[in-house]
Amino acid sequence: MAAERDVAVTILGAGPVGATLACLLAEAGVPAAVVDRAPLPPMELPAFDGRAYAIARTSRDVLADAGVWARLGALPCPIRRIHVTDGRLGQKPSRLDLTFDTTDVGVDAFGWMVEARHLRIALNAQLPSLPGLWVAAPAHVTAVEREAERATVRLADGTIIRSRLVVAAEGRESATREAAGIAVTRWDYGQDAIVAAVRHEQPHGHVAVEHFLPAGPFAILPLPGEDDDGRTSAIVWTERRAEAARIWSLDPSGFARELARRFGDRFGAVTPVGMRWRYPLGALLAHRYTATRLALVGDAAHGIHPIAGQGLNLGFRDVGELGARIASAFHAGRDVGGAEVLAGYQRARRPANLMMLAATDALDRLFSTDVAPVRLLRDLGIAAVDRLPPLKRVFMRTAMGLSPLGALKVA
Ligand SMILES: Cc1cc2nc3c(=O)[nH]c(=O)nc-3n(C[C@H](O)[C@H](O)[C@H](O)COP(=O)(O)OP(=O)(O)OC[C@H]3O[C@@H](n4cnc5c(N)ncnc54)[C@H](O)[C@@H]3O)c2cc1C
Repeated sequence: MAAERDVAVTILGAGPVGATLACLLAEAGVPAAVVDRAPLPPMELPAFDGRAYAIARTSRDVLADAGVWARLGALPCPIRRIHVTDGRLGQKPSRLDLTFDTTDVGVDAFGWMVEARHLRIALNAQLPSLPGLWVAAPAHVTAVEREAERATVRLADGTIIRSRLVVAAEGRESATREAAGIAVTRWDYGQDAIVAAVRHEQPHGHVAVEHFLPAGPFAILPLPGEDDDGRTSAIVWTERRAEAARIWSLDPSGFARELARRFGDRFGAVTPVGMRWRYPLGALLAHRYTATRLALVGDAAHGIHPIAGQGLNLGFRDVGELGARIASAFHAGRDVGGAEVLAGYQRARRPANLMMLAATDALDRLFSTDVAPVRLLRDLGIAAVDRLPPLKRVFMRTAMGLSPLGALKVA
C-alpha cells in the first residue's frame, strides 16, 4: 500500500550485506528501511544445496552485533586448520606445503563455514523482528533522488521513502552506483568457479584445504552437513572457462570422476551431493565509495577472486564500519549522510579492500600457472613462510579478518 516514510537510512538490496546493515542499524536504534527487488523467503532454498561462505572472525563479530549470529546457533562449522598445497593434476601434492593451526595463535577457530541457506534463514528471521526497521521485498525502485540535504527513494507502488542517506547494497551490477556516475574498473579472470558439496569417507577434522592446481585453486571447506558427522565439505573449484563448462555439463559419474582426481585421497573416497553451481570469476573496483547522500557497500563497491574466500567478509567489514559511523552520528544528533560520515567510511574501507583485491589477484596469478621457474619460486615461498613464524602469523591474522600487522592478541 502506498505510504510516505521518514527514516534515517534507506538500504537498497537485502542480500547478505544489505540485510546485515539493516539489522545492525535497527539493533543500534537507527530508523531504517531496506528494499529488495526479489522476495526474501525463496532465497532460503530449504534443501541443502552445497553453497556456503567462509565467515572470518571479524565478520562473526559484525553478525553478532546485528543479532544474526545468535540465530545461527550451532550451525557454523569452525575451521581449525588451514592446509595449503601446491600440485599438478594426477600427481601427489608438492611436499612443500603449509599448515596453519589455531593452536599456533591460541584461538578456537580461524573462521566458520556457514551454509548460504542458513545465513539467509537467520537474516529473514531477524529482519522482521526489529522495531524501527521497515522491509519492502519484493519492491521495485523507480527513482532515487539525492539532494544536498536529503534523499528520496520512490517505489513502483507509490511509496516514498525519505532519508538522510541511501546505501547501495545491490551487488556487482548496482543500478544506483551507475546512476550516480561512479565509474568502475573490471577485469575477467577467464576462469569459472564450480561450487558443490561432497561426502567423504573420513571426517574432515575441521580442516580447510587450498590445493593449488595449474588451472586454478581447488578449495575444500568443512561443513557440518545434514548428518552432522563431519563427513561433508564444500568445494570451490576454479578452472579455465572452457574446461569448467565441459566439466559442469558432464553426467553425474563423469563429474564425480573429475572431482575425485582433484580432491585426492586425503579424506578417503568422495561423492558429490546436492546441486552444482558455476560462476564466472572477475574483479570489480568502484572508483569512489560515496557520492552526495550515497554510500556503496559489499559487491556494489568491490568484487574479488574467491581464492581466499574473502568477498563477503569485505562486505561485512564495510557495513561494520559504516554502521558504527552512522549510529554514532545519529545518537550525537549529527547528519548520518553528511560529508564527515561518508569521507570517514571511504577512508577506512577503500584502501583496505583495494589491498585484498590486489593480494587475491596476485595469488591467483602466482598459482594459476604451470611455468617451471614460477612453480619453483612459489614452492620456495611456501617453504619460507613455513619457516618464518612472524610471516606465518601475518597470514593467519589475514585469514581471521584481523589487521595483518597487529599484536597477536585475539580473544
Ligand atoms: C564462487 C564464489 C564463491 C564465494 N565464496 C565466498 C566465501 O567463501 N566467503 C566470502 O566471504 N565470499 C564468497 N563469495 C563472494 C560472495 O558471494 C559475495 O561477496 C556476496 O554475495 C556479496 O553480497 P552482497 O549482499 O553485497 O550482494 P548480492 O549477494 O549480490 O546481493 C544483492 C541484493 O541486491 C538486490 N538488488 C539488486 N539490484 C537491486 C535494485 N535495483 N533494487 C533493489 N534490490 C536490488 C538483489 O536482489 C540481491 O538480493 C564467493 C563468490 C563466488 C562467485
